[in-house]
Amino acid sequence: MRLSSRLDLFNEPETLKMAKLGRELRAQGVDVIDLSLGEPDFDTPTHIKESLKRAVDENWSHYPPVAGYPELREAVCHKLRRDNGLDYRPENILVSTGAKQSLANVVMAVVDKGDEVVIPTPYWVTYSEIVKLCEGRVVLLRTAVDDGYKVTPDQLEAALTPATRLFMFSSPCNPSGSVYSAAELAALAEVFRRHPEVLILSDEIYEYINFVGRHESIAAFADLRDRVIILNGLSKGYAMTGYRLGWIAAHPAIVKACEKLQGQFTSGTNAVTQRGAITALTGDMSPTLAMNTEFGRRRARILELLNAIPGVRVAEPDGAFYVFPVVKAYFGTSDGVTEVRDADDLCMYLLNTAHVSTVTGRAFGEPDCIRLSFANGMDKIEAALDRITRAMARLR
Ligand code: PLP
Repeated sequence: MRLSSRLDLFNEPETLKMAKLGRELRAQGVDVIDLSLGEPDFDTPTHIKESLKRAVDENWSHYPPVAGYPELREAVCHKLRRDNGLDYRPENILVSTGAKQSLANVVMAVVDKGDEVVIPTPYWVTYSEIVKLCEGRVVLLRTAVDDGYKVTPDQLEAALTPATRLFMFSSPCNPSGSVYSAAELAALAEVFRRHPEVLILSDEIYEYINFVGRHESIAAFADLRDRVIILNGLSKGYAMTGYRLGWIAAHPAIVKACEKLQGQFTSGTNAVTQRGAITALTGDMSPTLAMNTEFGRRRARILELLNAIPGVRVAEPDGAFYVFPVVKAYFGTSDGVTEVRDADDLCMYLLNTAHVSTVTGRAFGEPDCIRLSFANGMDKIEAALDRITRAMARLR
């Protein structure tokens, strides 16, 4: 079968690959604990499910407007005012089939062949691959564990060139869990003021999973607002990964460009999901807050268990539901059968011997680390860490 050369431009997500390997082992009867996937283990809150069911009964079954129902675009504006103190209008909002599609739309809309896109490491696996698919040039900016995996203003200044079109980051960050404070964003904003051609994609999808308090957005700097594209969605904060709804808040020209793309790709987001999204964004937030509290308990426990493993160094995540320990002390070891040369080998070793799936840091641009998700019940987390601890003790 001859397939297009476009497919060679990018890779499949390592996160999905590990989950698939885990499922294959499970199909053979092995009891695998999955710490590889990035989705809440909670059910969608009841009031949102009721609204989704009502939408089916009310026959929201026709093609929706490509950009999203006006009431939903208004609901996103309501959320941005309520939670972020930001004033947006419906023409700034576009709703898509998951934040992943929102991201793909934006990159396709603003990045031309050869344009540079600066991405601090560690980064969400999809950023670099979408840029490559759009024939942009990925410029990775390596951050340090001692800086909490956050980019410094000097680093940013050095990375931006006349060819830079876009800067892309997430706060809270998948995979490091780092969260930028208002002061840290203000320092980056100063740099962006000196580079007026650069657009900023601010991925805020983990906004509600935050252990340090208030979420801050770089869109709060009014003079940068036209250049900031906020990316967000329902997947993480409302436990709605399968419903597939994401959105951007951006300059109307970017919204229109994404609408044009989406008009050819999907004709808009699932109508029933959109009706449920109105309820999610305007309704009771207490289930979301309760999930955050539970994530906080699990975070404390997984940190305690990881810190007890010799040679593992882990920064406390301020948000999202991942830990991203440095495991390089184990590179060059073996249990007598399997050699562990790098993070990829360690993940495969943990999958095959401890039956726990994790993700190699290489996939996130940080090869000294592995990622473990704590979006899993406490019993599973404890059992997984027990297995990991014992498997790692066999490596010398
Ligand atoms: N951004 C980040 C940082 C993510 O981790 C994810 C999902 O894993 C997404 C965006 C996309 O979310 P979705 O497409 O489910 O809305």
